[in-house]
Amino acid sequence: MLVIKKPEEISELTAEFKKLGHSVGFVPTMGALHAGHLSLIKQAKTNCEKCIVSIYINPTQFGPDEDLETYPRKLAKDIVLLESEEVDILFLPDNESMYPEGYNTFVTVSGLTNVLCGKSRPEHFKGVTTIVCKLLNIVQPDTAVFGEKDFQQAAVIKKMVKDLNIPVIIETGSIIREADNVAMSSRNKYLSTEERKQAVCLYKSLQTAKKIAEDSGKLADIKEAIRKIINSAPLANIDYIELVDPCTMKTAENRHGDVLAAIAVFFGKTRLIDNILLPRQSHQE
Ligand code: AMP
Repeated sequence: MLVIKKPEEISELTAEFKKLGHSVGFVPTMGALHAGHLSLIKQAKTNCEKCIVSIYINPTQFGPDEDLETYPRKLAKDIVLLESEEVDILFLPDNESMYPEGYNTFVTVSGLTNVLCGKSRPEHFKGVTTIVCKLLNIVQPDTAVFGEKDFQQAAVIKKMVKDLNIPVIIETGSIIREADNVAMSSRNKYLSTEERKQAVCLYKSLQTAKKIAEDSGKLADIKEAIRKIINSAPLANIDYIELVDPCTMKTAENRHGDVLAAIAVFFGKTRLIDNILLPRQSHQE
């Protein structure tokens, strides 16, 4: 695996791959890799001949009171994992090359970004879309793969790519979970033993939501059931519980179309997110 730090070198390598007729798949990450990241890499490799992964902890997507300084950094272990997945190139840019002095340009997607995670993390998506736009311009992949764990992020990126005519296919990969069904996240490490135990309430609440939806339950009942289950975990503090249209992120008014149940829950300072797509109500119901 090649480890490349300079943006211009990555662009040259991608151009060479394409000249040889190889398609290029790209998986952007912030490192501290786990099976969730690796599943996206496997997905990229099934559809593309060459796979490029980036590791970059993007400072502009962290709020002033968030965990930029303490975010886990595990480069040596990450490289071993990427080698074992037979990734072709690791792109490892530094802050100087991504945001040189005098950097002044940001990409904002309106509408989808001021709800759910965007409400509690006001500058977050502006940082995400800016860095993803830059990475797509640098790497110029045919396909980029994002995880459905960050469902809103994937929707925002799809919208950015469409609105800005960026020539890339955006794919998403399903949520990979721990043995007890807690969604894998680099931030799970922050949880105490007791918090980690109680974190199963997120998945449990979403499974109950699915069951109620299958039994033709109303949106209000689904939301209430989620709230009740999360509130039964003493260390959990709800940030949001929302039932939304999975494309626009607007509050769902009925169940005639797909509905995404998206939740964010604090355990101490650690904020966990999870989501599930609820089956739409059939016309007979
Ligand atoms: P991160 O390193 O947390 O920025 O995540 C990089 C990519 O991995 C994003 O597209 C995430 O949505 C995705 N990802 C993170 N956790 C999971 C998971 N448990 N399952 C699937 N994809 C994930």
